[in-house]
Amino acid sequence: MVKETIRVYARVKPLGRRQQAGIYSVDNDEKSLSSLEIIVPRDLADGFVNNKQESYKFKFQKIFDQEAKQDVVFDNIAKPVAECVLAGYNGTIFAYGQTGSGKTFTITGGAERYSDRGIIPRTLSYIFDQLQKDGSKVYTTHVSYLEIYNECGYDLLDPRHEASRLKDLPKVTIMEDPDQNIHLKNLSLQQATNEEEALNLLFLGDTNRMIAETPMNQASSRSHCIFTIHISSKEPGSATIRHSKLHLVDLAGSERVAKTGVGGHILTEAKYINLSLHHLEQVIIALAEKNRSHIPYRNSMMTSVLRDSLGGNCMTTMIATLSIDRRNIDESISTCRFAQRVALIKNEAVLNEEIDPTLMIIKLKKEIQELKDELVLVTGKERTSELSQEELLKLDELIETFLEDNDPDSTLDVGADMRKIKYCFIHLKLMNDSKMPDKKPLLQHNSEEKDSNKEVGEEELKKLKELLQQRDNEINILVNMLKKEKKRAQEGLFQLNAASAGSTVLEQSLCVNLEESQSPASSSSLKEAKDFSSSVHRPPFLSRQTGGKMSLGCQEAFEVFKQDHGDSIAIEDNKELLKQRFAEAKCLGEKLNKVRNKINHLKGEITQRHIQRAVLAVSSPSEKLNTLDPVEEQLRTQIEEEKKSYKTMFNRLKGLKVEIEHLQLLMEKAKMKLQKDFEIWWSEEAQKLQQEKPEMVSSSNTVTVYPQLRKPSQHLSINSFSETTRVSPSEDPAGKNNSIASSNPISKTRTPSSSSTSVPLTGDSQADADILAFMKARQNILQKKGLGNK
Ligand code: ADP
Ligand code: MG
Repeated sequence: MVKETIRVYARVKPLGRRQQAGIYSVDNDEKSLSSLEIIVPRDLADGFVNNKQESYKFKFQKIFDQEAKQDVVFDNIAKPVAECVLAGYNGTIFAYGQTGSGKTFTITGGAERYSDRGIIPRTLSYIFDQLQKDGSKVYTTHVSYLEIYNECGYDLLDPRHEASRLKDLPKVTIMEDPDQNIHLKNLSLQQATNEEEALNLLFLGDTNRMIAETPMNQASSRSHCIFTIHISSKEPGSATIRHSKLHLVDLAGSERVAKTGVGGHILTEAKYINLSLHHLEQVIIALAEKNRSHIPYRNSMMTSVLRDSLGGNCMTTMIATLSIDRRNIDESISTCRFAQRVALIKNEAVLNEEIDPTLMIIKLKKEIQELKDELVLVTGKERTSELSQEELLKLDELIETFLEDNDPDSTLDVGADMRKIKYCFIHLKLMNDSKMPDKKPLLQHNSEEKDSNKEVGEEELKKLKELLQQRDNEINILVNMLKKEKKRAQEGLFQLNAASAGSTVLEQSLCVNLEESQSPASSSSLKEAKDFSSSVHRPPFLSRQTGGKMSLGCQEAFEVFKQDHGDSIAIEDNKELLKQRFAEAKCLGEKLNKVRNKINHLKGEITQRHIQRAVLAVSSPSEKLNTLDPVEEQLRTQIEEEKKSYKTMFNRLKGLKVEIEHLQLLMEKAKMKLQKDFEIWWSEEAQKLQQEKPEMVSSSNTVTVYPQLRKPSQHLSINSFSETTRVSPSEDPAGKNNSIASSNPISKTRTPSSSSTSVPLTGDSQADADILAFMKARQNILQKKGLGNK
């Protein structure tokens, strides 16, 4: 058992270009806790007649100032937790802070650079690396990704995410078993056998989260996300299994409602968020207080899910993310205050070990067989559980003869078999009860005699029998336990099956199994390394189904929009980097191939040497052949050296593979974001246009510039817009009004009542709407770029 307080770290986000720094100082003491001092100048405008500064001091395990890089944060914060999880303890790392303070950046990572990857991808990499190194145990790993939004849970790995709207997805609900353990219904556990599979799942979840987000509804700041890695391990042959889980939590923004100053739907959300963070605070206050028996975990979903992480069986770490510019000083102080309270909480982590009932049954069955064998040895007879018909008849006969025999010395000898003895007793008892009550003393006498004859053997038999009975009971209990487990797992299994439809697509991703090429000796090894660049081609599994085709106008506008979009630079940069990495990988693959050939060649030379020496031994047997061959020795040293360089290059190639995959995922995500941003912007433009339509008609001469747009078949398909939207669980009318589906202007243009007759461009109202929307969109973009001629 490990008892310790929650470790609390702080991370200060770098200042933006236009931000003014607040006054703060960091004192990182290597030996004890570090301290952060924030200074707030007294505001003279408030009527204070002094300009004394106020200072706030907070203690942290360590403080990561603006320039701290992701690898340092990982090494200091996440690595120790990951190590505990690998050892069989539960772990949690959660980020707390206002929106924009760097929670997602710290937990998941930045979307642009490989070096910006956050705690989750780095932890996955570290864990799978360690698992691979440890050959002494059998490990299984699963991941789950839960989003909690307005007190409802959603499975971010649910493959239905892409096709259906969030509100139509099954909600993840909390169930408590009689032992007060929390189970999450409808949350899928997806197996990830390696880093790559786990990363794919992470990106899939992140993309699902992004898709569901709309500008009305920047859910990422209002929802909590919990990425969980489940590890179970077992030593081969042992019945003990260790289970542990690591929660990596990106909490909702901690800012207060009063400050956001918004109304309607967003306020409802903000209240919810505050409510759920408020409940978190309540739990933390209750935990920090001594002698508090009731901890209000059940008040919110998030505190229920994280119950073990707060004051329970878990090693927990918190990262307070701070945005230390002047405007956010108040929020930073409140984040630090929260952190100080959290730092008081004590957790007790225990090793999560349990006996595997299946293995226990196998073990007990083996023991029973041994006992049975022992019985055979004692009795000299193989025994089945039931007496055969033949044996029963023979017994009946024996009993009859015995009863009819008038000789007082006659005995009923059935051998040292408890089944037969029992049968005789029952038989006699029945006879005695019904017909021959007067024969009772005789029977007793007889059996006593027999007992004395068989005393020794029976005693032993009895003992063995008892043992058998005991084992049978144990097996029954274990079988029941298994049944219960199975029943419980069935629901989860059902979800897993549903989810596997999605994961098969993931399975199609990278097929290069570099592990196989570990040993230079394996013949197929480097063929794969050689084909590296061509096979690392990821199917666009993340790309969303857009449903219908974009119309030409829409496509053209998208092209222009793309060039203007901020992310396009990052996409281009990554594309360039990816090209470089591919080239590097290809080059390395070729080099590896050469080294392998060289090793094989050297091996061939050694074989040649052996043959030569063998021939020499035959032709001149007097030569001493036991002495070492210096040439061979030299060849062996050379092989060793080549192997070393092979290994170095191989590891580099492996690293490259991970980097390439990560970059591909980043690009895929950025592309989807671009598409989504465009869709939103396009629908906004179309809506504006709808209102200004008469004006646009007057400039209809420009339409001739794009004659191809006149084709009536090319419509801006309504399906090309995301219909994914979040609706608050309360389904309040305000919420509905804010949802993008209802405000989607395209759907409005499609209604027959629209004033399409007043815009006689092509005669096709839908095509006209497209054309006009495009013209307006293009003009807007050009104006934004400073190219427009108004
Ligand atoms: P939050 O999740 O707390 O709302 P984000 O992680 O999304 O905040 O951060 C907001 C912005 O600041 C993002 O663009 C992110 O890339 C950037 N950012 C945050 N922390 C850092 C950091 N330590 N270094 C560089 N950029 C950062
Ligand atoms: Mg965030």
